[in-house]
Amino acid sequence: MGVASPPRGSSPGGIWYELGMKRSSVLVVDDEEDVRGLIRLLLERAGLDVTEAGSGREALRRLHQVHPDLVVLDVTMPELDGWQALERIRDLSDVPVLMLTARAAELDKVRGLKAGADDYVTKPFGRQELLARVEALLRRSAGPPEVREAYADGAVQIDFASREVQILEPRPHAVQLTPLEFRLLGAFVRHPNQVLGRDQLLELVWGDAETVAADQVKLYVGYLRRKLAWDVAERSPLETVRGFGYRYRPSMEDALREQAPGAALPTST
Ligand SMILES: [Mg+2]
Repeated sequence: MGVASPPRGSSPGGIWYELGMKRSSVLVVDDEEDVRGLIRLLLERAGLDVTEAGSGREALRRLHQVHPDLVVLDVTMPELDGWQALERIRDLSDVPVLMLTARAAELDKVRGLKAGADDYVTKPFGRQELLARVEALLRRSAGPPEVREAYADGAVQIDFASREVQILEPRPHAVQLTPLEFRLLGAFVRHPNQVLGRDQLLELVWGDAETVAADQVKLYVGYLRRKLAWDVAERSPLETVRGFGYRYRPSMEDALREQAPGAALPTST
């Protein structure tokens, strides 16, 4: 995981770290080589790392390989088109997606919104317009600028940028979470020792306490507990508080002993 720098400070829960700076990377998907080349040039000049894909299928492969911070996705492509590619991307990842659409039709925009695209640029696009939208999406998804957060306590280690999760019991190993499970775990470690109710979790994790079915919370807490081997109540840091919700209780002592040998105790700030 490369948790290298010393603890940033204390929180009521585990230890939060800042990792080294990372250049943002963009996956550019377009079946036309000229268009890809143009976008690459533009984005590289702006200091971004660019990976290209010439088809929807290649885009899915690259997504796995490079874990980009943003995908620029052409709509009109043979075989797997941009909409179909977007659907598959959304099954795998929360990465922001900027669609390149050839038609200015409102219909496309509405369709994109529903399918989970984050923004659109209509071809032919101006360079400044494309760059402005790319940068806006990267800013929106990056959180505080150039900070990569990592978290560790006696039970779990999380790298929020690479989305790597490791559990320490019964032996340290990596766990694959879906984007939703990852956000749920994030909500718990960011609110240590607090009881989070169902509506609060719907708001924090789903971003919607109105229309999402409330039993989703119970369902996903169950998935999370199984994947993290926290399904035995006596050994689980994630408690059910009957009638109220859930509470995450991190163990600081373990975190300090196992994760940061020799590190100074974080002082209260
Ligand atoms: Mg095309």
